[in-house]
Amino acid sequence: MDGAMIETDTISSKFCRTDEFGLCPECGAVMNEVDRLKEGLYTFIWLECSKSNCDGQWLQKKPNSRFSGV
Ligand SMILES: [Zn+2]
Repeated sequence: MDGAMIETDTISSKFCRTDEFGLCPECGAVMNEVDRLKEGLYTFIWLECSKSNCDGQWLQKKPNSRFSGV
């Protein structure tokens, strides 16, 4: 893979993990996709923690790939 599109400037490893694997930044549990918005070159995916006692949320920004059907 070419990872040239990911901006890692000041993002902590904790948040990188969330972005890559969809894990809660608060507790590390798997997150559920609750909304998805395609806008221009990017798709924004809103995630919420699957644990009912956790408030973890994450907005994931993914570049729309023109090279694969994923
Ligand atoms: Zn959580």
